[in-house]
Amino acid sequence: MMRQYELVERVRRYNPKTDEALLDRAYVYAMKAHGSQLRASGDPYFSHPLEVAAILTDLKLDDATIVAALLHDTIEDTDATKPEIERLFGHQIATLVEGLTKIKKLDLVSKQAKQAENLRKLLLAIADDVRVLLVKLADRLHNMRTLKWVPPEKRDRVAQETLDIYAPLAGRMGMQDMREELEDLSFRQLSPEAYESIVSRVSELRQRNGPLVEEIERELSAELSRRGINAEVKGREKRPYSIWRKMERKAIGFEQLSDIYGFRVIVDSVEDCYRALGVIHIKWPLVPGRFKDYISTPKPNDYRSLHTTLIGPRRQRVELQIRTRDMEEIAEYGIAAHALYKDDKGAQGPMLSNESRAYAWLRKTIENLSQGLSPEEFLEHTKLELFHDQVFCFTPKGRLIALPRKATPIDFAYAVHTDIGNTAIGCKINGSVAPLVSELKNGDEVEIITSKAQTPPGAWETIAVTGKARAAVRRATRAAVRAQYAGLGRKIAERAFARAGKTFSDDAMAKATPRLARPSADDVFAAVGRGEIKTEDLVRAAYPEWTPPRPDEQAATERAPNGEGWFELKRGQNLKFKIPEGIPGPRLDAIPIRGIKGDLPVRFAPHGGAVPGDRIVGILTPGEGITIYPIQSKALQNFEDAPERWLDVRWDVDELSEGRFPAQIVVTAVNAPGSLAQVATVIGDHGANIDGLKMRSRSADFTEMVIDIEVFDLRHLNTIVSDLKARAVVSSVERING
Ligand code: MN
Repeated sequence: MMRQYELVERVRRYNPKTDEALLDRAYVYAMKAHGSQLRASGDPYFSHPLEVAAILTDLKLDDATIVAALLHDTIEDTDATKPEIERLFGHQIATLVEGLTKIKKLDLVSKQAKQAENLRKLLLAIADDVRVLLVKLADRLHNMRTLKWVPPEKRDRVAQETLDIYAPLAGRMGMQDMREELEDLSFRQLSPEAYESIVSRVSELRQRNGPLVEEIERELSAELSRRGINAEVKGREKRPYSIWRKMERKAIGFEQLSDIYGFRVIVDSVEDCYRALGVIHIKWPLVPGRFKDYISTPKPNDYRSLHTTLIGPRRQRVELQIRTRDMEEIAEYGIAAHALYKDDKGAQGPMLSNESRAYAWLRKTIENLSQGLSPEEFLEHTKLELFHDQVFCFTPKGRLIALPRKATPIDFAYAVHTDIGNTAIGCKINGSVAPLVSELKNGDEVEIITSKAQTPPGAWETIAVTGKARAAVRRATRAAVRAQYAGLGRKIAERAFARAGKTFSDDAMAKATPRLARPSADDVFAAVGRGEIKTEDLVRAAYPEWTPPRPDEQAATERAPNGEGWFELKRGQNLKFKIPEGIPGPRLDAIPIRGIKGDLPVRFAPHGGAVPGDRIVGILTPGEGITIYPIQSKALQNFEDAPERWLDVRWDVDELSEGRFPAQIVVTAVNAPGSLAQVATVIGDHGANIDGLKMRSRSADFTEMVIDIEVFDLRHLNTIVSDLKARAVVSSVERING
């Protein structure tokens, strides 16, 4: 294991101004924090953060990054806390370590390859400070290097994730060596036979060819310098994974593979690039169709270079890139444009806008670098601005859902599945109940609570930000409203035909429908329900010979005295029937809610509060107390900006409790003698109390009743609602939630 002074020494080699005391303190702190913890290899756990720090010294990173690397597993795996780290090491380092702790949670998420791109973006968005990602990559590299100690069943997953996410990320950040090592380590784990076969073929080839790379380097430089071109030639064998990818992509065998060797010729000027190209093409035959001029036509990411392939000194095909030192800097430096261009090859089309923003960001980054900021300044001020217009959230099972900024759980629900959206009644964000209109944040875990009885409120159409959610809400509300009106209209129609002494039948409707210029009988019913078609017109459309009676002949025995307004009944009052007295039983004297400390008064929201079985939220009103709302209550939207007022509360009711809870329902019933009494009887038969009733006659055909009832719990309420719906006189029943 590396000693304290060795680490300091490594840093001092590239950073003479390093804060030794700080490094020492971090070394000791992390060593003590991890104490006697062991890695699977049997090494002390502390050897891991130490190796991670060592990898980062190879990248010549600043003190804060090295310290963050030493501390990167302390919050998650030891007693260390962020406040303590902040006290000992300052705010900046504490923030870095916290960022790493956040990212670590992502490791637990199951990932599919198709989600990799999203996850990579999520990493970028969460890690606002680029140093967090650098430590994360070093952490992953060390874990990959020691993969043999990971339990066998986990190795493939770790390797696949590395290949899908971390290796491309390293590539984008310009760390090509790290990218290649991550790729090869993953490749070896995932396809051991392929890996071994490529490695042995390459080594066979090396033995057969001798020191070919050095030879070609020498010959190329000699030829160029003989022609007066000052050039640096760098050659190397390609790595196993990149050879494999090429074989895969081109569906060719190893024998046909020309690109085992790659060479780079670095010259002083653009003019020299073309001169060097000429010299090389004269000396060695080129492979036709392989020449590309990215100098006169740069790639959109500013990558510039000449590419060619030739038959080299030993009749071996060699790939050649010719560029100036400036171009090389852009391609090699820090966060490399070169890597991005490679990544981009597979991602044309819809990805383009994000990609071009990535270019813009990269160019800005490169500008900063070339303006001579010190590496420390550069790293500190580089915020990853990519993808900031998106939020990334998870389902409880770990599926990643990408949404636009300001998206709500409603959008989330529809993104998961239209049915989930249509039946959503509430949600939990990171385990706590929250309104469906909350704004989602990066990394939120969202659980949607659904109910089959739900149809989406029309207001969601304006709340949702995604087109998918809006369109689905519009469709669902339209369909639901239409179905409701059609059901109501049908009942009205049946009665209108009966009143007119005419037969109501499919035949009659088939005759009436075209005369009313509607496409189907259902459309006619919906129009009747909405009041767009008068019942008299409907009957006459089916039976043209029929004439409606004069208005005063219409019986309205059970109509409310005031046809337009509401009139109210209280328990015990008489209309033409009596509201049943209800079952006497203990009423509620204290609201049985758990999760509230102290003696604050607790009350239910007015107009249909919550009943046991509802998911509930307590809203604290200073000076007044706590109001309990069911989670589906629209009123909760008013408190959305005040999360501090939300209390996590639960019912404290057992099954045998005889307390009754107020709920409110709206029943739309056909105007028929005794229909009101029937409704009241159903409620009474189920042992519920009617506490009040308000009714309004909406037309000659139906009446709306708002009924305050008292029930034991949600199941009790649902039973009553279902039973009411089953009655012929009832056209719809809805619960009101304040
Ligand atoms: Mn670690």
